[in-house]
Amino acid sequence: MIQLTKVNKTYQGLGGQVHALIDTDLSIDQGASTVIIGKSGSGKSTLLNIISGIDRCEGGEVVINGSKLHTMGENELAKWRGRNIGIVFQNFQLMPTLSALDNVLFPMDLVQVIPAKARKTRAQQLLSEVGLAAKMHKFPNELSGGEIQRVAIARALANDPPIILADEPTGNLDTQNSDRIYQLFESLVQQGKTLVIVTHENISHRNFNQVVTLQDGIILHATQSL
Ligand code: ADP
Ligand code: MG
Repeated sequence: MIQLTKVNKTYQGLGGQVHALIDTDLSIDQGASTVIIGKSGSGKSTLLNIISGIDRCEGGEVVINGSKLHTMGENELAKWRGRNIGIVFQNFQLMPTLSALDNVLFPMDLVQVIPAKARKTRAQQLLSEVGLAAKMHKFPNELSGGEIQRVAIARALANDPPIILADEPTGNLDTQNSDRIYQLFESLVQQGKTLVIVTHENISHRNFNQVVTLQDGIILHATQSL
C-alpha cells in the first residue's frame, strides 16, 4: 500500500517558486494498477519521484508498505529503493557505455537480490519479453528511441521489484510495441505487482484499477474501479 498524505513539493524556478505538488493525498492499493494523467507540467514526474524517494517532499508523509520514506536517511532510502521499486524514467537514463544486456544486469549486480548465477538468464529473458532478443548486445547509441525505452522497461524489472513506476513508458513506441508493453504490465499486475504509470496519452481503452487526474499540482479526481 502506498499512502501519500498532504505532500507538498516546490521548486525554485527562474520565474519564482513553482508549486509542483500541493497538499497531495493519494492511496494506492498493493497489487493495483494506477494511471496518473495530466498535461505536461502538471506534476506527474514529481509525484513519481516522491513515491520512489528520489525527491523529498516538504511536509507531508509518504508511507509505503509500512516504510516511512519521509523519515529515512539517504543511504537507507537508496537501499530500500533498490529492493522495492523499479523505475522507468521519462528520459530512460541508460548507461551509454553498457550494452542493453549489461544495462539490465547492472541493477542486479548492484542490489544483489537475484542470485549471481541466475542474473544473465534473467536479463536475457526480460529483454526477450520486451521484444529485444536480437539486440541485447547493442549499445544505446545503436538502438532507436523505442528500443531504448524497452531496455529501460526491462531494466526496471531486473530485481523483480514489488512496485513498478513508469514515467510515460510508451511515449516513443508504435501501437504494436505499446500494446506489448501494456500486456507485460498487465501480466505483472496479475502476478501481484503494484504498478503506477504516468502518461498524457489517451488510455481510455486500457484497464487500470485507479485513474488519477493531476492538474497544476492538484489531484482533481482519483476514481477507483475493480
Ligand atoms: P510533468 O511530469 O507532469 O510534466 P513535472 O513534475 O516534471 O511535470 O513538473 C511539475 C512542475 O514543476 C512544472 O511546472 C515544472 O516546470 C516544475 N519543475 C519540475 N522540476 C523542476 C526543477 N528541477 N526545477 C524547477 N522547476 C521544476
Ligand atoms: Mg514528466
